[in-house]
Amino acid sequence: MKYRGQSDMPTLAVIGGIHGHEAQGPAACFNLISVLGYGRDLKGTPWPDIVSELNYVIVPIANPDARGRVPNSFVGLATQDILHYDAGMNLAGERHDPGDVDCNPDEMMILGGLFNDAGQHINREKDPENVRSPEIRALMAFTADHDPDIALEFHAHSAPPMLIAPGNLVPDDVRAQQQAICGRITERAASEGIQFQEQIPVSDKLSTSLYYSLCGATPILYESPQGVLDSTAPWSHEQIIDGCMFVTSCLCRELTG
Ligand SMILES: [Zn+2]
Repeated sequence: MKYRGQSDMPTLAVIGGIHGHEAQGPAACFNLISVLGYGRDLKGTPWPDIVSELNYVIVPIANPDARGRVPNSFVGLATQDILHYDAGMNLAGERHDPGDVDCNPDEMMILGGLFNDAGQHINREKDPENVRSPEIRALMAFTADHDPDIALEFHAHSAPPMLIAPGNLVPDDVRAQQQAICGRITERAASEGIQFQEQIPVSDKLSTSLYYSLCGATPILYESPQGVLDSTAPWSHEQIIDGCMFVTSCLCRELTG
């Protein structure tokens, strides 16, 4: 969806559900829509930095095939439980992670949340001249139409919260901007008692960079904790959504100066 603020104000793109086993992204997007519509998220929390003057492009579920296949939550479970669903399990019931390439759905008992139903590893689409999956093509076309300044993509893992700077296709000045923005988010998180990983790693293998090459937006990726008990961040559902909303809120503050 798009939310129109003032025409002379910047635009934030927020994307969830690239990976099916990371349901906090879609949930956070719907909470963002609630804040924009009613001034509060779905549990009643106001986020005063998420202001209606900004413009928003929100894609809650970028990979609906995968979202429809896998569980809605791993809160209170173990990392091992995620491993059945992220890369998926082959016909022998063993985890099958082909790495950064596609997989054959016919060879899978559980097709993982990384893939669309055709087995395409859509988050590894990084050639702007040859985007193969319908999901990334549609996502980039819709997002580019609204010319965002920053694009935030929600992801999740079984570790503490972490920001990643997608680096392929991204020039040095934008890389510096990513580090500066993520550094400020990490500092602000620490001041509010949320411990983000301090280092902001650069990843050179993500479709997330296409927001820059196809849309001109500074791409930022947020890895939320999944709430698994055997991690150092066994967050509750509430903490997970608040973390996503916090990052969104910080980016709104960046755009409003
Ligand atoms: Zn992910």
